[in-house]
Amino acid sequence: MSNLITLNPEIRDTIIESGGDDAIKCYQCGRCMAACPWNLLKKIDYTTYRFCQRIRLGAIIESEDKEEIAADTIDVFRCVGCDSCQFECPRGVNLSDVLRAIRRILVDYGSYPGELKSVVSRLYNSGNPLGEPAEKRADWAAGLDIPQFNESCEYLYFPCCVPAYDTRAKNVAQATAKILKMAGVSFGIIGKDEFCCGEAVRRVGAEKVFQTAVKHNTEVFTKIGVEKVITTSPHCYATFKNDYPEYYDKLDAFHVTQLFAQLIKEKKIVPKKPFNKTVVYHDPCTLGRQMKILEEPREVLKSIPGLKLVEIPTFNREYSVCCGAGAMGLWRDWPQGERLTNFRVEQILNTNAELLAVACPYCLQMFEETIKSMNLDLQVMDIAEILFESLD
Ligand code: SF4
Ligand code: SF4
Repeated sequence: MSNLITLNPEIRDTIIESGGDDAIKCYQCGRCMAACPWNLLKKIDYTTYRFCQRIRLGAIIESEDKEEIAADTIDVFRCVGCDSCQFECPRGVNLSDVLRAIRRILVDYGSYPGELKSVVSRLYNSGNPLGEPAEKRADWAAGLDIPQFNESCEYLYFPCCVPAYDTRAKNVAQATAKILKMAGVSFGIIGKDEFCCGEAVRRVGAEKVFQTAVKHNTEVFTKIGVEKVITTSPHCYATFKNDYPEYYDKLDAFHVTQLFAQLIKEKKIVPKKPFNKTVVYHDPCTLGRQMKILEEPREVLKSIPGLKLVEIPTFNREYSVCCGAGAMGLWRDWPQGERLTNFRVEQILNTNAELLAVACPYCLQMFEETIKSMNLDLQVMDIAEILFESLD
């Protein structure tokens, strides 16, 4: 008896009450560790299954030793929420939710990485993680003649904060809006009264800030009568589809690749101009593994004349490897050797594709920045941009 680790039932119960109850289901088989992308990097030994064990023992974040707390904090905030572990787990343990439960406690105590604190505070103060002014939120749509959402619009187009403000990513929102207009889709935008969907802050454990974002957006949706939303980001899509109905049950969400595939099937848009390139598609974790939208992006790409679609061997569809941007990984600055993007880029390069197609603004940013830093000759485009180029 005396050799057993002391249980701290209070810590265990707090984590479980905060949403980490899946930890109880784990029987320590270790398959999650084999699936976790961090363990594909030589430098990292990320023993994911031990989180469940340590929670059950009440042995996580209970130390008073600063170094131990710091080590725990790095590990807890390393998870990018890609769900590769859950996909492989024979008990269906949602490890990213377990880790989110621990994060909620750490965030409440202010014990989380400074880079993330800045993003959370920017989102809280300005309604977006970039800290940009609300008045500029619709600047991307200037000159495109897109109506403010009103009762005659079928869909709200929600561009995501990155395409709304980022100079490069704006092109994705613009291409999307132009395609929707060409297809005669009835849609409008919100502009300055729109907040971030809040996915990233929820994943990082800043639940109170997430609730602020939900409250703000659902009040706006109620006022103007939004029932269907089209999103560019898989993160907004998953959040509107899975999380918002608890607060606003009228909402249905669609990822833009679903709509594009449908519009092509109905011949409302017909890709005609050849796009003579060998293209590889990277499945975003949230769109593919988590939301099961695996074929629609491929259907869109395959409908484009001249485009040759190749796959990353083994690590495609549900087995895609995270670009590293999830759960605010986009705003982390990991040292060399600890970057998931570099690993994924190596896999992409091995396909000999000339162009990398993405369907997520976070993936777009991660890959473009990494490819630039690696001095590589590989173009990155969102599917909306490729599709738009192939339309008359
Ligand atoms: S795969 Fe599931 S059951 Fe096995 S160790 Fe990981 S979390 Fe536990
Ligand atoms: S969600 Fe992804 S990064 Fe997090 S523990 Fe699971 S496999 Fe690893």
